[in-house]
Amino acid sequence: MLLERERAAVAEYGRRLVPARLTVGTGGNLSLRDPATGYIAVSPSGMRYEDISCADVAVLAPDGTRLDGARKPTSETALHLAFYAARPDRHAVVHTHSPAVTALACLRRELPAMSYLVALSGRDSVPCAPYADFGSQALADAAVRAADGCDAVLLASHGIVCLGADLDAAFQLAEQMEFCADVYLRCLAAGAEPARLTPEEMAQARARFGTYGQPKGEK
Ligand code: 13P
Ligand code: ZN
Repeated sequence: MLLERERAAVAEYGRRLVPARLTVGTGGNLSLRDPATGYIAVSPSGMRYEDISCADVAVLAPDGTRLDGARKPTSETALHLAFYAARPDRHAVVHTHSPAVTALACLRRELPAMSYLVALSGRDSVPCAPYADFGSQALADAAVRAADGCDAVLLASHGIVCLGADLDAAFQLAEQMEFCADVYLRCLAAGAEPARLTPEEMAQARARFGTYGQPKGEK
């Protein structure tokens, strides 16, 4: 089976989305690129994550041609392909409809530097892309333009897209951005704007994340 390992990873991380409260029902989608071939394993459109098996995960060429898999790929295929084209160093895309980031995206506000965790996005703040129809090339273009190199971007009145070197990184970024958005909304609900970290403090946080956790190669 073409890209068996990547397809298994898409099915596995897909199954984690609903229990992690990162989406509901069939919302959201995810994909993983094989750096060797450039082929991309993408979740199928409109299927419940618990029902998705390896064979349901389509394999696409970088131009979107379906190379394997009987199921119709995600309606956000253009969005995934656009990020892979723009970011050769990122091999996973996780798009979710988690509640706090979606609320922020409905307010059409960016996620500011209100916590050092926002630095996980690679930037000081996470931008919000203007609204466009779900599944459209216009949404893909708007998201890539607004992200401008950030590993996360809010989609107005929709959700968020997170990028990673692998699926675990993209998934963890989606979890952390949801946590930050939730805390940010709680601050706003308390009637105040939270303090902002300075660009220097955010740069320090990014540098510390470079050595955070276990040394590379050890789990
Ligand atoms: P798919 O089920 O086609 O992946 O679409 C879900 C979604 O989140 C659209 O933006
Ligand atoms: Zn969506």
